[in-house]
Amino acid sequence: DRAVAPNLQEDDLALDRSLRPKKLCDYLGQTKVKESLAILIEAAQQRKECADHILFSGPPGLGKTTLATVVANELGANIRTTSGPAIERTGDLAAILTNLEEGDVLFIDEIHRLNRMVEEVLYPALEDFALDIVVGKGPAARSIRLDLPHFTLIGATTRTGLLTGPLRDRFGIAFRLQYYTPEELAAIVARSAAILDVPISEDGALEIARRSRGTPRLANRMLKRVRDWAQVRGDGVIDEDVAAQALSFFEVDNLGLDAVDNRILELLAVQFGGRPVGLTTLASALSEDTDTIEDVYEPYLMQQGLIVRTPKGRQATERAYEHLGIVPPKAD
Ligand code: ADP
Repeated sequence: DRAVAPNLQEDDLALDRSLRPKKLCDYLGQTKVKESLAILIEAAQQRKECADHILFSGPPGLGKTTLATVVANELGANIRTTSGPAIERTGDLAAILTNLEEGDVLFIDEIHRLNRMVEEVLYPALEDFALDIVVGKGPAARSIRLDLPHFTLIGATTRTGLLTGPLRDRFGIAFRLQYYTPEELAAIVARSAAILDVPISEDGALEIARRSRGTPRLANRMLKRVRDWAQVRGDGVIDEDVAAQALSFFEVDNLGLDAVDNRILELLAVQFGGRPVGLTTLASALSEDTDTIEDVYEPYLMQQGLIVRTPKGRQATERAYEHLGIVPPKAD
């Protein structure tokens, strides 16, 4: 497994759970999103109504699930959690919806992966809190409408562009989560270290933050690995030097890039001679699928200004050459 893969890995589960903030004030960073949510929550509570359906988008590990649980918690509501791929049939969704209670929050992760038939059952549920079911077969078949309790749907997706138009339109409000700044991540690392009882200096937290690709899940995972390293190779205390040495040992470089990221940069800069490269070409050169490249690798490389997307394809930037320590080819 890649140390820097932002997707949930097996050994993240317990860590994620123990470090997940429960209140909006413990959810660090994403200031603008939090401010808007605070208003939305308070307004719903004043009106004694359910909050609007909410969509969170952004790369994995940025805190979409966490934010959903925080919102439910702040609303004083129960949360039911499921995911797009887990709801295979319309009957699965009908069962989930009819089991909801008034005021519940329903969280659907990877909501872009719902299939069309299931999605169509969801529309009237979101709009009218109703479930249309067909009873009988052939000419005798008729549709009856069941009332559902009022609930708030919170959907999460890596990219809003993956959602169908009709589904996107049914969310009252949508938020795009941004990568965290090193300072915000350092605050998250410090909070996690306090919970895990790990001694860490301020610059130690910042060093982990800088190498964590703007992603809280990674920052927490790195903290755990650095803690082990510090315990075995040092005196258990994490300072800047220890954090840097440990992360280099785990092959995470000073920009938070690992071997795969660097391979992408090398492919673009060297093998393809700095020319723009199409997504499918890049994917086959890496033996990865195009979705993984778009969702997992590219966003961070682009955010760091290491690659750009041009109409002709992906291209390495000057910063990429600098990072690789090679001279860019002369423009022809
Ligand atoms: P996503 O659903 O976007 O993939 P998660 O919500 O599962 O990401 O976040 C991964 C982990 O990162 C959480 O368990 C939590 O410990 C931590 N985390 C995420 N966002 C924050 C935040 N804003 N403040 C503190 N910790 C966070």
